[in-house]
Amino acid sequence: MLPDSLIGLAAIAGLLGLCVGSFLNVVIHRLPRMMEQEWQNQCAELRGEAQPGIQALSLARPRSRCPHCGHSITALENIPLLSYLLILRGKCSACGKHISARYPIVELSTALLSAYTAWHFGPTMQAAGGLLLIWALITLSAIDLDTQLLPDSITLPLLWIGIAFNLFGSFTDLPSAVIGTMTGYLALWSVFWLFKLATGKEGMGYGDFKLLAALGAWLGWQMLPAIILLSSVVGALIGIALIVAARHGRNMPIPFGPYLAAAGCIALFWGDTITRSYLGLIA
Ligand SMILES: [Zn+2]
Repeated sequence: MLPDSLIGLAAIAGLLGLCVGSFLNVVIHRLPRMMEQEWQNQCAELRGEAQPGIQALSLARPRSRCPHCGHSITALENIPLLSYLLILRGKCSACGKHISARYPIVELSTALLSAYTAWHFGPTMQAAGGLLLIWALITLSAIDLDTQLLPDSITLPLLWIGIAFNLFGSFTDLPSAVIGTMTGYLALWSVFWLFKLATGKEGMGYGDFKLLAALGAWLGWQMLPAIILLSSVVGALIGIALIVAARHGRNMPIPFGPYLAAAGCIALFWGDTITRSYLGLIA
């Protein structure tokens, strides 16, 4: 494919990424609240109480609002990135309170990573799969940072979609994908129990196991050592930095999901190179 048309493809993917990023912001904000609502409904049902008559929250309703004053976001204020930078300048148009920079950051990183995915893979099934994987990883990272949760409603479909892509050998062959799923889950599950037996503490959550299982399903078991190594190194460095900076208590849990997601992202693009070079080092 000519570089010109590849640039065009990357630009289209970037624009698509901007719009998707805007939707991911809604998922990141609402999904944990929807889960909490669901738990409360279940608890009320168990206690035999009437369900609280609040309006059910969904990804589509109600319209996005300012968290401070409840001002409904208008269509003009909802243009990804541009509204925040040019029209609103980081403030709500009704009450003037500051709007978190997280929204434009999620939109921009989704756009850049989507453009890079299209550029890296070209017009292939891999690009389509890569986009889905990247979008899911961004959403999971942000939700984990906010709530220390990795919702099953994202990790489990991600796992199955990864296996489905590899039915046709998009990223790896099917046996590697299936073995990757099993070993991904078991690897962190064993670490969890060893750590718990040794220290009596829980170092990570079941969501982390499912996320690594999903990465194994997408990229195959061959990538798991690199993913675990990369995420532990980055996680340890940032963890130590936070403890040194005394902004984080030694015993406070540090979400592991974003590091796994970042490592999965690196493995998606450069996994083959990394695996080859460290196998080269051993041999
Ligand atoms: Zn407001």
